Amino acid sequence: MNAPDTSARNHADAQNGYDRFLASTHEVRNQPPALENYNLFDQDRALQESVSREGADWARDDLAAYGAVTGRSDIIELGFLANENKPVFHTHDRFGHRQDLVTFHPAYHQLMDMALTNGLHSSPWTDPGAGAHVARAARYYMHSQVEAAHCCPVTMTFAAMPSINKQPELAKIWAPKITARSYDPRNVPAEQKTAVTIGMAMTEKQGGSDVRANSTRAFPLGSGGPGEAYELVGHKWFVSAPMCDAFLVLAQAPGGLSCFLMPRWRPDGSKNPWQIQRLKNKMGNVANASSEAELRGALAWMVGEEGRGVPTIIEMVAMTRFDCMIGSSAGMRQAAAQALHHCRHREAFGARLDQQPLMQNVLADLALESEAALAMTMRVARALDNQDDDQERLFTRLATPVGKYWICKRTPNHAYEAMECIGGSGVMEDCIMPRLLRESPVNAIWEGSGNVQCLDTLRALQKSPDSLDAFFAEVAQARGSDNRFDRFLARLQSDFGRTDDIQFRARNLVDRLALALQGSLLLRHSTPAVADAFCAGRLESHGGLNIGNLPSGVDAAAIIERATPVVD
Ligand SMILES: Cc1cc2nc3c(=O)[nH]c(=O)nc-3n(C[C@H](O)[C@H](O)[C@H](O)COP(=O)(O)OP(=O)(O)OC[C@H]3O[C@@H](n4cnc5c(N)ncnc54)[C@H](O)[C@@H]3O)c2cc1C
Repeated sequence: MNAPDTSARNHADAQNGYDRFLASTHEVRNQPPALENYNLFDQDRALQESVSREGADWARDDLAAYGAVTGRSDIIELGFLANENKPVFHTHDRFGHRQDLVTFHPAYHQLMDMALTNGLHSSPWTDPGAGAHVARAARYYMHSQVEAAHCCPVTMTFAAMPSINKQPELAKIWAPKITARSYDPRNVPAEQKTAVTIGMAMTEKQGGSDVRANSTRAFPLGSGGPGEAYELVGHKWFVSAPMCDAFLVLAQAPGGLSCFLMPRWRPDGSKNPWQIQRLKNKMGNVANASSEAELRGALAWMVGEEGRGVPTIIEMVAMTRFDCMIGSSAGMRQAAAQALHHCRHREAFGARLDQQPLMQNVLADLALESEAALAMTMRVARALDNQDDDQERLFTRLATPVGKYWICKRTPNHAYEAMECIGGSGVMEDCIMPRLLRESPVNAIWEGSGNVQCLDTLRALQKSPDSLDAFFAEVAQARGSDNRFDRFLARLQSDFGRTDDIQFRARNLVDRLALALQGSLLLRHSTPAVADAFCAGRLESHGGLNIGNLPSGVDAAAIIERATPVVD
């Protein structure tokens, strides 16, 4: 057999060619740049306009500076790290002492530190005044786009103040530490800290919406009554952020369901006997720990009147509901921004996706939903800044459950549609979309699920009928600017004339209250393209139900151009 001609030279040439072939299988093209190192404030026209409109124009420079921080790639990375590394629960230390310790990835602590040093938990309390809630909402809106789950303890700490203020001697001790602009995650008594965080524990196994079913009992240590010490015995089925320094807890006192402030530690420096049983294994909201707990004689002080636990803690719940509006609006903005950015840089069938009519309809619809949510949220923020005004207070009473219900419920499908705009890469864990989607149902469920918000709306109508007048007075300011809006509003107002079957119809009524308010705000304050598309796509039915059903004639390109963040 003849040997093949394998001269050294021929062999080397072949090898080089093979290496070259291996090294350059293809060129990566038609992929968008990462949406990072951009300014979340400067690149969000709807946000900028709402801040100025609702009374926080003075905060624009600070907000722009924060927008630059929250768009930085290293800050965005914190959100990924905090979710890839779940909190870990340690029942005991290595010597066998019970410790009930939850540890977090450093990224979680960095995000918490950023939130608290920037006053996301306290600025309207420490620096009240025109636009205080609006400025905080805008800052929270940008911060939450980085990572939403850790915002749970931020919100609870913020929201606790109105409830704790009902017991002035407790507020005197706790308020300075609750509102301090720093973060101290050490597991030590609150007495040793200058800054603390606050959680809430209402839900029990037998009932979350119906907290009157709470079985946890409160035993007075002395005379009992507001501000007095009790020991709590029972369980809680959901306690989020269990490393908080204290919790507002509902428990049955001799005089009925009451609210208590329960610290992690007793004043003598011993561990307060409430024990974490396990952490919840959640589908989303992963960076935030949520726990099940047992209270074994945990020391706590009564807040507010005995037997008035729900009215006391509802002050906190009202604020957390508002934060759900901000958080879900933020989730929608981030999802819309990701979809718009991707389609601006991606071609298919020879043209950019954001220039093809069908995708334009989807993108414009996503942007519309996001802007409508923001407009509603920021209007409620302004109302919170004006609680001395009767009309604004009545408006808030109705607009909060309506907004919490509507915005939170619209978010999951919005996140899913935005994910689909990105295609297969949108499903991958190194994209933010899976996290946005998994996070999206949470706001709708906690702090009063959808039906509970609708029932609360009916309760507001029944107990304070003037709130409907205040709501419609706000909405009616757009009357006369668009026939479709006028017809929608007239039908809605007439349907409130009927009270039969009102619980069965509650979702329908609340949906339409939300749409009427959003339509009114967009007609008065947004661009003609946005307002027209909202009236056409939301206030008049064209038969379709999914995102991407805007009718012909809508200026989708203008809506897309307004909402697309530009990073190059
Ligand atoms: C991630 C996460 C974290 C949480 N963290 C906390 C926490 O820190 N502290 C805390 O106290 N709780 C917490 N919760 C609990 C949450 O607040 C409750 O899950 C919620 O209030 C609903 O209560 P439930 O689960 O018992 O459901 P249920 O009360 O049984 O409600 C089930 C469904 O029935 C509906 N429903 C209830 N009543 C009516 C009615 N009359 N008519 C029509 N429909 C009705 C509800 O809207 C809901 O859709 C957390 C929940 C989650 C998911």
